[in-house]
Amino acid sequence: MQGVGFRPFVHRLAADLAVSGFVRNDSRGVEIEAEGGADIIDRFVELLSTDAPSLASVEMVRAADIAVCGTSGFTIAASVAGAPAALVAQDAATCEDCLAELFDPDDRRFRYPFINCTNCGPRFTIVRGVPYDRPFTTMAGFAMCGTCRAEYDDPDDRRFHAQPNACPECGPLARMSGERRLFGGPDAVGEAAALLRAGAILAIKGIGGYHLACRAADAEAVGRLRSRKHREDKPFALMALDVAAARRLVALGDEELALLSSPARPVVLAERLADADVASAVAPDARELGVMLPYSPLHHLLLADAGSTLVLTSGNVSDEPIAYRDDDALARLQPIADAFLLHDRPIHMRTDDSVARVVRGRPMVLRRSRGLVPASMPLPLGCAAPVLACGAELKSTFCLAKGSRAWVGHHIGDLQNAETLESFRDGITHFERLFDVAPEVVAHDLHPDYLSTSYALARQGVELVGVQHHHAHLAACLAEHGVTELAVGAIYDGAGYGTDGTVWGGEILVGDLRSAERAGHLAPVRLPGGDRAAREPWRMACSWLVAAQGAEAGLPATLRSQVSGDSWEAVARLVETGFAAPETTSMGRLFDAVAALCGVRAFATYEGQAAIELEAIADTADRASYDLSPDLDARPLVLAILADLRVGTSAAIVSARFHRAVARATAEACAAAASRAGLDLVVLSGGVFQNRLLLTWTAERLDALGLKLLVAERLPVNDGAIAYGQAAVAAARR
Ligand code: ZN
Ligand code: ZN
Ligand code: FE
Repeated sequence: MQGVGFRPFVHRLAADLAVSGFVRNDSRGVEIEAEGGADIIDRFVELLSTDAPSLASVEMVRAADIAVCGTSGFTIAASVAGAPAALVAQDAATCEDCLAELFDPDDRRFRYPFINCTNCGPRFTIVRGVPYDRPFTTMAGFAMCGTCRAEYDDPDDRRFHAQPNACPECGPLARMSGERRLFGGPDAVGEAAALLRAGAILAIKGIGGYHLACRAADAEAVGRLRSRKHREDKPFALMALDVAAARRLVALGDEELALLSSPARPVVLAERLADADVASAVAPDARELGVMLPYSPLHHLLLADAGSTLVLTSGNVSDEPIAYRDDDALARLQPIADAFLLHDRPIHMRTDDSVARVVRGRPMVLRRSRGLVPASMPLPLGCAAPVLACGAELKSTFCLAKGSRAWVGHHIGDLQNAETLESFRDGITHFERLFDVAPEVVAHDLHPDYLSTSYALARQGVELVGVQHHHAHLAACLAEHGVTELAVGAIYDGAGYGTDGTVWGGEILVGDLRSAERAGHLAPVRLPGGDRAAREPWRMACSWLVAAQGAEAGLPATLRSQVSGDSWEAVARLVETGFAAPETTSMGRLFDAVAALCGVRAFATYEGQAAIELEAIADTADRASYDLSPDLDARPLVLAILADLRVGTSAAIVSARFHRAVARATAEACAAAASRAGLDLVVLSGGVFQNRLLLTWTAERLDALGLKLLVAERLPVNDGAIAYGQAAVAAARR
């Protein structure tokens, strides 16, 4: 990877040990010739791995003896022609050294919001092209002053070849709302913080896009932001000044702290503390809060000046992609923000904040974007020809692969409109150049109506590989863990196109990277109104009740205040006749149905909301479970829930019993499939497994049954991993 200070590190190491020779980039990575005493060279080789700079990751060191040439001194030599296209690093949070300078009144970069060095700062978001060199970044327009240039050119300086290197004399500046360019004295960031303290909503330009911010404890400001943003229920992310401030908001174990403080600085979802000083409108009805730490110098200054936790949510209206171009952001966010905190370093690649949580002591990425992209992923079965995989539709990403490496693109959002499609196309073109991949094989979902499928089919002169959606989920998890053998997969999500043309989503598969067979599935029911059923969970309650009870299934008491008898009758007829009601085995929709039956939510404002709220209310102290057989026919389960609700059992208890039933049946179904296939490895994946209770309880049962479990860590279990899974399948099939 370039721009992470590896060559200067080698240079310094050589100088320390008095080794002579050179270091340069070549087509295999970094090549070093080192000459010195045998012990010294051994030590040198060892330190290459153990002391590498924080952003570099040394995958392998291969050493071989060559003839002594009697060189003196050690140089950083020019890269070999045909060296790999610059492997661009991910954006990294401000390092400790830079932070110390940022708050040191005697430093020339005191309070400079764009301080960075070889170990930190923007990378992926500012790279326009290759090679990774200042003219090909959005820093091209800033000519370094003499002092910055001297740092940049000095191999012993911690800013040697730091492409975004800058200072207040020569670099980008922050300013408020367009009219003034202030620096020193009451600076722009200080002014912004004062406005926030006074209750304003600010649009703030960051690393990968614009955020909207206000004080998290200010109920009036948060309410205003929510109504202006038309974001009815989705939780807002928070930025806390430091670990101590984050600890006053959420419960943080060691694993959460490690995630929170990692250079990627994701939003970490963790259990909200009862006395967290946060307006309730930040995350209505949620058990968790999403918290991150400052990751750019501008954020550090802003949080220090504001003196309290801020809401920092993506700068967009409702479900649009996050704004990142200045003109577009000004136009779109003007109606929402009272003022703008801007800067003049352009953002080339839009990236949202990454989102992660800890489950069973392991990190789980829910959205892979800023700070994590474009780090490469391994392909256990490398591809003979370069591959492009186009992903699915929701939480869309793409993936490019060459040899045994895959690059998964940043989270693009739901690929359902012209703007996200443009981001998708631009992203693919950008990655093709950055990583020098000219796809000869293009993998895609089987769904004929996905925009990603149309894009794949329109690529000229390539070999197309269709990959079944749930097989891609399974393959993504196997590939991430480097597993090439067969496994059982319980793949639960909202919807994926099945090989029989129906909507799958509650699948027990047996497969490997090449192929997968369906070994079981949730009993099929109707999806009344198609996609509308995902937004109106009560429709799925109707569908499951009609499936279980037949035509006499009436409107349950828990839904009477939200759904009219006539609507219920009309949907029941769709279910009976199958008109506008395709078949589905979707587990996500079963969770919706149960949430609606419990009266938790009849109408959802975003995908998965009902299931998230159902999980949040579960009374985990209740140890009982409903009966659900390993053949996953959930009709008796739905009737048992109805009976429980009729005798006044609380939704919290019903939720817990339902989660336990699905967990137990899933583990048993996996065990049965595993024993039939003669294997002991199980994968749990699909968006439904973002449910912490379900994942934890299923894992406990699998463990008790003596099965080994694999769960994704670096990529999401949701559709954000589909593209990578497709690439792994396409590579394996060749
Ligand atoms: Zn730094
Ligand atoms: Zn300068
Ligand atoms: Fe899926």
